[in-house]
Amino acid sequence: MSAAVSRVGVVGLGTMGAGIAEVLARGGHSVVGVEVNNDALQRGRDNLERSTGRAVRRGRLSEEDKAAILGRIELGTSFAGLAECDLVIEAVPERLDLKRRVFEELDTVCRPDAVLATNTSSLSVTEIAAATGRPEQIVGVHFFNPAPVMKLVEVIHTVLTRPEALTAVEELVGSLGKVAVTVGDRAGFIANRLLFGYLNQAAGMYEDGYATREDLDAAMTSTGLPMGPLTLMDLIGLDVSLEVCEAIYRETRDRRHAPAPILRRLVTAGLLGRKTGRGFYTYGEPEQAAEPGTEPGAAPSVGVAGSGPLAVAVIQAAERAGADVRFVAGDDDKARAVRDAVGEGVTGGTDLSLLADRDLIVEAVAEDVAVKRSLLAAVDDVARKGAVLATTGATVPVIELAMATDRPQDVVGLHLPDPEGGLAELVSTVVTDPEIAERAAAYLTRLGKRPVRSADRAGFIVDALRVPYLNDAVRMLESGYADADAIDAAMTHGCGYPIGPIADLDRIGLDRAVEVLRALYTEYRDPAFAPAPLLDRLRTAGATFR
Ligand code: NAD
Repeated sequence: MSAAVSRVGVVGLGTMGAGIAEVLARGGHSVVGVEVNNDALQRGRDNLERSTGRAVRRGRLSEEDKAAILGRIELGTSFAGLAECDLVIEAVPERLDLKRRVFEELDTVCRPDAVLATNTSSLSVTEIAAATGRPEQIVGVHFFNPAPVMKLVEVIHTVLTRPEALTAVEELVGSLGKVAVTVGDRAGFIANRLLFGYLNQAAGMYEDGYATREDLDAAMTSTGLPMGPLTLMDLIGLDVSLEVCEAIYRETRDRRHAPAPILRRLVTAGLLGRKTGRGFYTYGEPEQAAEPGTEPGAAPSVGVAGSGPLAVAVIQAAERAGADVRFVAGDDDKARAVRDAVGEGVTGGTDLSLLADRDLIVEAVAEDVAVKRSLLAAVDDVARKGAVLATTGATVPVIELAMATDRPQDVVGLHLPDPEGGLAELVSTVVTDPEIAERAAAYLTRLGKRPVRSADRAGFIVDALRVPYLNDAVRMLESGYADADAIDAAMTHGCGYPIGPIADLDRIGLDRAVEVLRALYTEYRDPAFAPAPLLDRLRTAGATFR
C-alpha cells in the first residue's frame, strides 16, 4: 500500500468510479464512495457486486476476498464522508460545469493537504483545478475502461501541480499494480490523442464509401488489434467519441480530429452505439445470412510472377490450399532460390508462357513502377482470356499499373499487409469488371485469405489507417510531450495494441512508413500525412527509434 495515501474517496460510482473503487479496495485501501442520491448509490453498489461477483465466478477471486474488498468500501451520498481522505478521485460525467462544481465542494470539505484528482478523458485538468483554492494539489488520474482490467493509468500534472502531489499519486498507481505514465495537461493526453485520430479517420473512410464497415474492422483486427475501429467506437459510445474528438480539435485545430460528419449525424439521431443498440452496427438482431456470391468454389490454378518473400508467401498459401501453382522468376538463380524456399513440388521457371493457362496470375515483383508495368504488359500477352490479373503494387494507384495492359478491366490490386497472415486487401480500380473482382475475392477465399475490398487509394485500408497514426506518435515524441517508452506503454496498456507505435515503426521499417506517408500526402495533400521531420531524418540516417 502506498504510504502517503491510505484513505481514498471516489465521487461518482458509474462505469469508471465503481471500477476505480474496486481497484483501490483490492489494493488494501479504505475507500469512501459518494453518489448523487440513493438510487444512484444503489446502482453503484450493484456495479461493485456485479464486477467482483464475476471475478469470483471466473475463479479469480475467493468469496472471502470479495467480502473483504467490499468491506473496505464505505458508501454514502454526502461529501462530508470525504473529509478524512488523503486523496479523492472524481469520476462524474464528462461535463466541465459539473466537474468544477464537484471540485468546489471537495475543496471546502476535504483536508487542505488532500490531493484531489479527476478521471476526465478530455477536459482540461487545469480548468478544473482553477475551480479550487488549491490548484497545486490537483492532478489527473486517467484510468481506462474496465478499470480493474486495464493496466494503464495516465497521471496528469498541470503547470501548477506540486511535485509531492504528483509523486503521491504515481506511487499509489504503481502500488495498485498499474502502469503509471505521467504527462502534462493536453487534450486527449497520450492514448486518446493517438487513438481518436485513427478512429475518426476510419469513420470518415466508412462515410466516404472507401470500404464497408465489416471490411474496415476486419482489416484492422488482422493487425492484432483487439477490435476494429467502428466496433470500438460503438463500444466507447459515439457521443463520447464525438466529444473527445471535439475536445482535441478545439485545442489543436488539427483536421485529423475534426469529427467526421457521420459521427455527429449518428449522435443527433440518438444512435450512440452499443448502449442504445445501434451505432455503426445494429446490435441484438438475429445474424444476417451470409451474402451469396462469394462461395469459394474450386481452387483456382495460380501463377506467380516474382521471386521475393511476397511471391514465396503467395506460392506457399496456394500450395497449402491445394491449388495447382506455378511461378516465373526473372532468371535461373532466382528460380532456384524460389524452389529452395517452397519445395520441389512447385513447378516454375523463367518463361512467362508457364502462366498461360492460369485462372489467377499474381504479379509480385519488386516495388518499381516501370518494372511492374512492363511485366504486366508481358503477362497480358500470354495470359488466357478471362484470367484474373492481380498486381501487388502499393506505391501508385492500381489503375496506373492496370493501364499497362490491354485489359485493365481484368486487373485488380492485391495487397497483403502481412504476407504470412490471413488478410488480403483487394482493390477494384475505376474500370475493374465487377465479375472479375467477385472471382478474385472467391479465389482469395479459396486460398485461405480473408479478402477485404478497398478503394484504389494510397495505403488501401491497413496502411492508410495505421501509418498516419504512427506518424502522429512521432509528432508527439518530437514535441517532447512524452518519450518513446511512455507512448508505447500508453497504447499497449491503455488500448490493447499488441505493440506500441514507436516499436511498430522500427518493426515495419522507417523506409516503408515514409513511402506510405508520401503516397498518402501526394493523394490527399493533408498536412497530417506529411512524414514527421524526425521520422524522415531517422530514415535518411538509416537509424531506428531504439
Ligand atoms: P457514468 O455516467 O457511468 O458515471 C458517472 C456517475 O457519476 C453516475 O453514477 C452519476 O450518478 C454520478 N454523479 C453525477 N453527478 C454526481 C455528483 N454531483 N456527485 C456524485 N456523483 C455524481 O460515467 P463514466 O463512464 O464512469 O465516466 C466518468 C468519468 O470517467 C468521465 O469524466 C469520463 O470521461 C471518464 N472516463 C470514462 C471512460 C469510459 O470508458 N467510460 C474511460 C476513461 C475515463
